[in-house]
Amino acid sequence: MIQPPRATRTTPSSPEGIPARILLFDLDGTLVLTGGAGVRALDRAFQDLYGLKDAGRSVPFAGRTDLGIIRDIVEGKLRRPLAAEDAAAICERYLHYLEEEVERSATYRVLPGVPALLTLLTSRPDCLLGLGTGNLEAGARIKLARADLNRYFTFGGFGSDAEDRVEVLRCAVARGEARRAHSGADGPARVFVIGDTPLDVESGRALGALTVAVATGVVSAEALERAGPDHLLADLTDPETFLRILDG
Ligand SMILES: [Mg+2]
Repeated sequence: MIQPPRATRTTPSSPEGIPARILLFDLDGTLVLTGGAGVRALDRAFQDLYGLKDAGRSVPFAGRTDLGIIRDIVEGKLRRPLAAEDAAAICERYLHYLEEEVERSATYRVLPGVPALLTLLTSRPDCLLGLGTGNLEAGARIKLARADLNRYFTFGGFGSDAEDRVEVLRCAVARGEARRAHSGADGPARVFVIGDTPLDVESGRALGALTVAVATGVVSAEALERAGPDHLLADLTDPETFLRILDG
């Protein structure tokens, strides 16, 4: 059972009710593991459209945007440039299959501590929660829906916003800042990027965010350490540690 923090933490520089922190969570390997549903959905899309088998095999997925992955497959395996109409057709077919694959994935799971931490953070007026993920937004929503996690994230940056991971995060920050501005904030928030791959760390750092690496995905803690995150956690099961990072 998660205990509430001992004292209410507020940020002195932030007027009451205006979140001073934007927290951007990666999805795969950070919030949930889909048990390969995304790869299977993409494989089926390429099989349907181009007769290509095992399209995702030997293509790196972790930490990348959907469009970047699709481009690799089209250029590397179909040996042609990625045309906009191809990308649209692949994404459409992928999302169609993703719903089915996520639903029936036997090894789908929410990562340890995630619902309790998200509930705790949502209760804090100084934190604004968003997504920073390479998934197409519709795909992210499908992946989170099975565990009813969409309710924690009213905005984000997605693979449907940009192919480049830094741009994805920039979109998320812009949306978060628009919400803060609407609440009357002046001055930018402190941004935290939470993710399970060196790419999350690198893109967060490129944006000037504080980076929190969490070793619950496919990348080892040692490899994450080498990426030089501001903080490295084994998982998200200790809310007190996480709150200390936010307040640090
Ligand atoms: Mg990830």
